[in-house]
Amino acid sequence: NLSDKLDRAFKVLKGQGSITEINVAETMKEIRKALLDADVNYKTAKAFTDEVKQKALGENVLTSISPGQLLTKIMSDELTKLMGGTTAELTFPATPTIILIAGLNGAGKTTFSGKLALFLKTQKGKKPLLVADDVYRPAAIEQLKVLGGQIGIPVYANLESKDPVAIALEGLAQAKQNGNNVLIIDTAGRLAIDEAMMVEIEQVKKALNPHEILFVVDAMTGQDAVNTAKVFNDRLDFTGAVLTKLDGDTRGGAALSIKSVVNKPIKFIGTGEKMEALDVFHPDRMSSRILGMGDVISLVERAQQQFDEKEAAELQKKIRKNKFDFNDFFGQIQQIKKMGNMKDLMGMIPGVGKAMKDIDIQDDAFKSIEAIIQSMTPKEKENPDIINQSRRMRIAKGSGNDLAEVNRLIKQFDDMRKMMKQFSNPAQMAKMMRNMP
Ligand code: GDP
Ligand code: MG
Repeated sequence: NLSDKLDRAFKVLKGQGSITEINVAETMKEIRKALLDADVNYKTAKAFTDEVKQKALGENVLTSISPGQLLTKIMSDELTKLMGGTTAELTFPATPTIILIAGLNGAGKTTFSGKLALFLKTQKGKKPLLVADDVYRPAAIEQLKVLGGQIGIPVYANLESKDPVAIALEGLAQAKQNGNNVLIIDTAGRLAIDEAMMVEIEQVKKALNPHEILFVVDAMTGQDAVNTAKVFNDRLDFTGAVLTKLDGDTRGGAALSIKSVVNKPIKFIGTGEKMEALDVFHPDRMSSRILGMGDVISLVERAQQQFDEKEAAELQKKIRKNKFDFNDFFGQIQQIKKMGNMKDLMGMIPGVGKAMKDIDIQDDAFKSIEAIIQSMTPKEKENPDIINQSRRMRIAKGSGNDLAEVNRLIKQFDDMRKMMKQFSNPAQMAKMMRNMP
């Protein structure tokens, strides 16, 4: 992957006692190759390495104390610039703000529509309405309805109609009537660029005059993603791109090229199938991620978001009174699981990402803990102190675990409770629990 290749390219510089203009040039060639391999298009890669080289020579990388570091910094700044420099926020110029979602089939439009609605509700205090405007696949309408149900967002659909413009307008009318201040229209895609699809979405655009048109694209499709972006942008003049399926990987090729080819910002990235797996796109963080520096800030932010504040306050009260029980413990595990794939999260920690790459961390690392807790009676969950030897044996049997495992969990739980009394800080606690299994 790109960051490994860049690592290798940098090694030439890092490992060298003396650095010459020749091996800066050599390194730039390696970097250009790495970028090309990562689906950055040729013009972008060339312009980029030329620029870095220029800067590197200008800032006297050759005579600096740590040339590798300085060059990394220059690279990182340039990558950031290449991806738009700063974060491009969504704007809400009207009520309702209309957001049209476009892209090919399987890009992740419907999933993103749900994620965006949830994000706007929880992070921006908005009241979104989703519109199921994929008239070709009844299953797609159902999919959006199910997602809406999961995240508590209303979905407008009209199974009787085959007219995407009419449905979108009906959705708009409903939003106005019900006081929804954001309208998110999930449209139909096609397997490939298709004239009928383009005409259809142009018509929806014309009728609704959306404030944002977000083009959703699967980052795994590499150079195709850039070509598709170009076609959609020529037809729709979209306001931003969404890169999906960037789960835990550092593949940033598409992110690098899209901005420079269509000159539109990337606004969000999708990092998993779950509704919470959405991140605002930060060019600087993406560039550190590409360069293998990890993305600690995103990690911390995600952890913070997931930890519902009210619940945290509730929990804190319990801890203070030493009333934290197995029900709470179980609830905490669910919270942690909600934060998304463990491997994704680990991948964001500098130094860990690479080491973890080949190890398959099961998302069900908590499975046996959950089974043990579920085999407890309600009374036992509320009063962990009553779990004596014979109860432990019953729990072990019921959960399909060894007695030793049950003992270990209860011991850990006890230790944790003791420690918890010392902290009353929920974030710290979440961190502690994450290290448990
Ligand atoms: P649409 O045809 O554009 O509406 O695409 P969907 O939203 O139905 O998504 C297609 C598939 O991609 C589904 O299986 C989604 O769960 C999956 N998907 C969408 N976004 C992501 C993402 O960010 N990461 C991963 N791993 N899968 C995603
Ligand atoms: Mg869809």
